[in-house]
Amino acid sequence: MPETLALIVAAGRGHRLGGDLPKQYRDLGGQPLLRHSVRRFLDHPAVDGVRVAIHPDDRALYDAAVQGLDLPAPVPGGATRQDSCRLALESAASAPPRFVLIHDAARPFPPAAAIDDALAALDAHDGAVVAVPVVDTLKRETGGLVAETVDRAGLWRAQTPQAFRYDAILEAHRAAIGDNLTDDAAVAERAGLGLVFVTGSEDNFKVTTEDDLRRAGRLAGAAARICTGSGFDVHRLGDGDHVWLGGVRIPHDRGLIGHSDADVALHALTDAILGAIAAGDIGSHFPPSDPQWKGASSDIFLGHAGLLVHERGGSIDSLDLTVICEAPRLGPHRDAMVARIAGILDLPADRVSVKATTTERLGFTGRGEGIAAQAVATVRLPG
Ligand code: MG
Repeated sequence: MPETLALIVAAGRGHRLGGDLPKQYRDLGGQPLLRHSVRRFLDHPAVDGVRVAIHPDDRALYDAAVQGLDLPAPVPGGATRQDSCRLALESAASAPPRFVLIHDAARPFPPAAAIDDALAALDAHDGAVVAVPVVDTLKRETGGLVAETVDRAGLWRAQTPQAFRYDAILEAHRAAIGDNLTDDAAVAERAGLGLVFVTGSEDNFKVTTEDDLRRAGRLAGAAARICTGSGFDVHRLGDGDHVWLGGVRIPHDRGLIGHSDADVALHALTDAILGAIAAGDIGSHFPPSDPQWKGASSDIFLGHAGLLVHERGGSIDSLDLTVICEAPRLGPHRDAMVARIAGILDLPADRVSVKATTTERLGFTGRGEGIAAQAVATVRLPG
């Protein structure tokens, strides 16, 4: 049984934010907002498991958002936030954890230290609420006029996560069905549990408006790591009537020789992307000794490299490919190559550059013995 389970509530529809997508699936620095929230807990050493409550209609969005992460099936949420929390808690009853952290998916930056502090507080208290003290002067309005200044002493703004002993908060939720309380601390207070505040962060804000989404995007971008990788490949020219270059079949009086389709351009791009994420090379993922890759279409290799970037929560910022040969002439095929590469990786075409050069008839490319390609990939990984 896990010691500490994190439950992430992502079942709301975010109508306030508008747009086609529920806000937890909107893009934040190259990955869905929900993925940021989930990773904060998956990556925290004190958290043993993460479970997400989602709207039943959002399963496809959810699967795409958490692709490659180690998560159990999501819990279908209920009609209200409170219902969704209770259902998520009930879903863990067969292997009950000792402690539970309940977090709103719409807060993508819960501080690791606040998670530690909230769990540590459970040694002495029934629950802990991550919160920030109110620093603004508070005013009450009456009849359209400023009526009075409210004493802010002792006032905090509650955030999430909120930490509880699992059994106690489950019981409190069962007793509060139908009350429509806005956070789990309110459910716990209703049950008479003793809670304390632990200090959160202003960065742990809830994404509610388009402004919030932009602010969160800046924070995600500022934390990103920009990584560069290079790739180089050569294939020999031999008998044939076409070559594959950049995923495009180009008629030629010779062919490229190789175990796969010998698409030297896609191989260089694949190695560049693998290099940027320090994930080995094309041969370590697709050994030439393995017969299943004989004659394989190289878009499989490039697509796999793109998937590995996605699984790391990253995105490809740009690709720059140079094909080195005297023939065939690539100018007429350049747009098709860009479109094909962008299509394989699901990237906008303006992130893909395809260039061609010769070596002035010098060397093996100059003599027409083979075609070379080199590539540079720039990848953004979460910080
Ligand atoms: Mg190759």
